[in-house]
Amino acid sequence: MSEPAPREITRAIVHGAGGRMGRAIVRTIHDTPGITLVGAIDREDGTTQGLDVGELAGVGPLRVSVEPSFRDDLEAHVLIDFTRSEATERMAHRAAARGVALVVGTTGLEASARAALDRAAKVVPVLVAANTSVGVTVLAYLAELATTLLGPGYDAEIIEMHHNQKADAPSGTALRLADVVLAAKGLDRSAIRTGREGKPGSRTRDEVGVLALRGGDVIGDHTLVLAGAGERVELTHKATDRSLFARGAVRAAQWIVSRPAGLYDMRDVLGLR
Ligand code: NAD
Repeated sequence: MSEPAPREITRAIVHGAGGRMGRAIVRTIHDTPGITLVGAIDREDGTTQGLDVGELAGVGPLRVSVEPSFRDDLEAHVLIDFTRSEATERMAHRAAARGVALVVGTTGLEASARAALDRAAKVVPVLVAANTSVGVTVLAYLAELATTLLGPGYDAEIIEMHHNQKADAPSGTALRLADVVLAAKGLDRSAIRTGREGKPGSRTRDEVGVLALRGGDVIGDHTLVLAGAGERVELTHKATDRSLFARGAVRAAQWIVSRPAGLYDMRDVLGLR
């Protein structure tokens, strides 16, 4: 892959450019110095084919049209993917073959898509992040640190709240937060309690509550409570604008273009290893 020199502009392709996240990413690239959009891809049978992606995203014409596939003449450094598992899988092969880095925000990846990304990561740098928010990445880091520092005497409970249209519960982000806490406590997902009713009895040390609230238009709130004798620590993240995911993805795209081949996540972008 051609690595950009220090002041070179990062040339990006957005895959899923007609979607909600794709359009938010186009807007963010438009507003971010040092990165430019050179390609926009979306499904062949989609309604956005041939449209100017800048018009679609509401930033005015950018002279980049939505296309069905990866054009061979595009000299791109990075492809940002927010689509669906099968589309991500196909694009992993194409990007690796073309020496283009990948930032994947698509969630619900099937095992075959993960395997394709693992293979691509042997050839190009690949970042996979089901939550590209910088704040949530920091929250997970602090959650691990706080759980480890406080030790087993502190009970961990996670509370999340989302809008009343959300299909899944608990949220993927709450489960990832739980994973970090469980690992720090030496537990696995079987320790998660997603609800308590009746007479569950005394709380054991080997459980982590993950509770989902639903209502209104809440974009996403997550709180980790670590409760000990006579005190508790609470770590909270509140999302107030969906563009935070796009900003994190674009930051990751600018970071990844100068990395060697390998698999990365948002912690690497923030230097939190
Ligand atoms: P969306 O439905 O608005 O957009 C998805 C886009 O992908 C559409 O334009 C669709 O046409 C396109 N697409 C679907 N199949 C395709 C194919 N085979 N080839 C090419 N393009 C195809 O959804 P969204 O809200 O933009 O979310 C997209 C993905 O990003 C989802 O998996 C969602 O869960 C995930 N997401 C991740 C984060 C994060 O922080 N990482 C944040 C929000 C959403």
